[in-house]
Amino acid sequence: MVSPICPTCGCSLVRLGIERSTAPSYEHNGRRLLFCCQGCVELFAEDPERHLAEVADWIVCPTCLAEKPKALAVSITHRGQEIHFCRCPGCLEEFGRRPEELLARLAA
Ligand SMILES: [Zn+2]
Ligand SMILES: [Zn+2]
Repeated sequence: MVSPICPTCGCSLVRLGIERSTAPSYEHNGRRLLFCCQGCVELFAEDPERHLAEVADWIVCPTCLAEKPKALAVSITHRGQEIHFCRCPGCLEEFGRRPEELLARLAA
């Protein structure tokens, strides 16, 4: 499950309430990247590799929608899929109560 993170500012689009279909995008090395706003696209274009490297291993917690580097995350396997969470035990617990709903929200 990869939830888009704006590579420039590190905000997850789902947390900002921006849908994939309406997010500004930019083609880089054949990859279409999604951004939170046009300003972030312009900043990104000035130094793409630096911005990509900064958020390369970031994940979005499905419960609280916080963006974390993997070093600060924990993971579980849910229906054969690896899912990363922030370290908060409450987020894991909450996910256990309504996993499908939270995964659907993350994928939006
Ligand atoms: Zn941004
Ligand atoms: Zn969390």
